Amino acid sequence: MFITFEGGEGAGKTTVLSILHKELEDQGYDVLATREPGGIKISEKIRHIILDPEHKEMDARTEALLYAAARRQHLAEKVIPALREGKIVLCDRFVDSSLVYQGVGRGLGIEEVMTVNEFAVEDWMPDVTLFFDITPEQGLARIDANSAREKNRLDMENLDFHKKVYDAYLELAAKYPERIECINADQPLDRVISEVREAIGHHTNK
Ligand code: C5P
Ligand code: MG
Repeated sequence: MFITFEGGEGAGKTTVLSILHKELEDQGYDVLATREPGGIKISEKIRHIILDPEHKEMDARTEALLYAAARRQHLAEKVIPALREGKIVLCDRFVDSSLVYQGVGRGLGIEEVMTVNEFAVEDWMPDVTLFFDITPEQGLARIDANSAREKNRLDMENLDFHKKVYDAYLELAAKYPERIECINADQPLDRVISEVREAIGHHTNK
């Protein structure tokens, strides 16, 4: 089962992923927890190139292609083998991030970015996508409070950029209700986790 975690900055994806990872392992499941962009050597190097705050000159299409390249290598080298072994794969971000950040945030167009990503992922789409729903104002406030977080090139973007990204996530969730589960991320962590358990349950009991 392939489960992806999506949402804006400060939504809590990474935190919830690590808790769920442990919980599923304690229940005896074989789980791979990983992240994008990155997760393996080549893709972590690409992540470094994309997110380096010094690369201010990066063209939006270059950015979209680099994300797709990092995604492909990570998928081929790590995700597909794990799925073939019957593991549950938990992945922090996937194709939807590109659709909203590069497609809408950077204005390249969802269709165009989808085309590049279809080449990268073929038919390997997630069984379930958890969308952590929190307004950009609230998400960014959480990040400001977390001074330990690494700075990246996205930190130059203003609130308008993050609002566009957020609206695009809402539209994607409305467009693919079978795959995308909306999780209210603006609640105490234990409540978020119970919503996540329930959402995954919808897909395992089918
Ligand atoms: O999720 P994480 O914080 O690791 O993502 C790193 C950065 O990359 C974030 O600022 C995120 O907004 C950005 N990103 C992006 N386009 C993607 C995926 C991530 O701009 N397709
Ligand atoms: Mg994170």
